[in-house]
Amino acid sequence: MTDADPKARLDAIVEQGLCIGCGLCQAVAGKDVVRVVKTASGYLHPVVVGELEAAQVDRIYEVCPGTRIEGLPERLLDEETRVDNVWGPWQRIVRAWAADPEMRYEGATGGVLTALAAYLLDSGRVNFVLHARASATEPSFGDATISRSRADVLAAAGSRYGPTATLIDIDAVLSLGEPFAVVGTPCDLSALRNHAEFDPRVDQLVRYWMTMVCGGFGAPETTLAFYQRNGIDPAQVTALRYRGRGCPGPTRVETAQGAAEYHYLDYWGDDESMWGLPFRCKICPDGIGETADIAASDTWPGGSPNRVDSETDPGTNGVIARTRAGAELLAAAAQDGALAIEYDITADDMSIYQPHQMHKKYAVWARHQGLGDAGRIVPRTARLRIEELAAELPEATNRYQRDGTRRRIEAGKATLPTPAMSGGGDD
Ligand SMILES: Cc1cc2nc3c(=O)[nH]c(=O)nc-3n(C[C@H](O)[C@H](O)[C@H](O)COP(=O)(O)OP(=O)(O)OC[C@H]3O[C@@H](n4cnc5c(N)ncnc54)[C@H](O)[C@@H]3O)c2cc1C
Ligand code: SF4
Ligand code: SF4
Repeated sequence: MTDADPKARLDAIVEQGLCIGCGLCQAVAGKDVVRVVKTASGYLHPVVVGELEAAQVDRIYEVCPGTRIEGLPERLLDEETRVDNVWGPWQRIVRAWAADPEMRYEGATGGVLTALAAYLLDSGRVNFVLHARASATEPSFGDATISRSRADVLAAAGSRYGPTATLIDIDAVLSLGEPFAVVGTPCDLSALRNHAEFDPRVDQLVRYWMTMVCGGFGAPETTLAFYQRNGIDPAQVTALRYRGRGCPGPTRVETAQGAAEYHYLDYWGDDESMWGLPFRCKICPDGIGETADIAASDTWPGGSPNRVDSETDPGTNGVIARTRAGAELLAAAAQDGALAIEYDITADDMSIYQPHQMHKKYAVWARHQGLGDAGRIVPRTARLRIEELAAELPEATNRYQRDGTRRRIEAGKATLPTPAMSGGGDD
């Protein structure tokens, strides 16, 4: 593949279903060369629009979270760090929620990420927060955004399950030269940690790394199917709020005709087998945010809400503080009244709340072998313990996962067309 022409090499990441649309390759190559836009497939993907050089693609392969995903840098482990084989490095794990009732209500789960982001701003620890809010142009997508106030942070609360290019403007964000916090998906954070090896501004300026535990984003096909099932014309949708305002809170669709509310399960389905995820998420070696200072999750036993309890659930996050910085932030935010900590929990509790994460962490090494068997790009991984976890499984289980991935690829279920601009995406 390294002999292939640069455009073909970048296209291959998309065609092989490994691109999550984080936007970093646009920042690396420059907007005149690569644009991450909504393509004809409905996803946010890079389209080559200028002369892409071999050295730029080499760099993209080093930083792209489709091709390289590694765990927490070793320098961030210390004598307080414990490492759970499934849940990774941690210093403290708690159940918690935002102390401010409005934040708890507006947040996707218990508003912990919003409360911590606001606390970082209020306490002057950072000048701004890079995260995501509902897209101004594509109702199901997210847009990268910079928040400098509590109100900005609150306005971006909730989960953006659709494609979201959090890192698309990272070069301009770093050029501001100000200390900031980042909230992104685990793969956004992996990408930014990779980028830190080539751009020293990342480690100088990013003071806090925060993420959500992430089972996968909503594929555009999933959102379209949801609209179809409910008789909604996608062309008429002006706003989509996936969750928040309770836990999980309603999935609210606005059209010119008015608003309608659905249950979270109406979007995702009643169990994990129904989740319509992009291929990359099915082979994700780090949905648990191993490179973050803080990772926040839901706390529904079994991984999904039930329709009855969720009517009144005010929201409680599982919160993993992985680093010294994360543990200190958690303690300070609780001490200063920004966060309510209910009680400490363990990595095993996280597996009760997130069985899908545990299963994927065990299965993913064999799935990566299946990628190799099919002649596909195998993402480079390190410090994620996936081979050790696979070694705990019976050989037949690993074989099943490995062959399943290869068969999926051979059946064309993990292949996307060469990315091309859709109308209107080339601003
Ligand atoms: C794609 C996706 C998959 C998820 N899968 C799981 C799962 O498997 N298990 C689980 O427990 N929880 C999952 N969640 C996380 C869950 O929905 C909550 O985000 C999490 O519990 C934090 O809740 P909170 O109330 O603290 O968040 P909030 O206080 O609402 O804060 C959320 C923060 O995340 C930012 N954000 C939201 N979406 C994105 C995005 N796409 N890219 C970058 N930043 C974003 C917002 O800007 C905001 O700052 C997922 C979230 C997403 C976006
Ligand atoms: S995952 Fe990010 S860096 Fe990789 S190809 Fe997609 S947009 Fe570019
Ligand atoms: S499951 Fe993995 S690849 Fe998919 S959005 Fe989440 S962190 Fe990214």
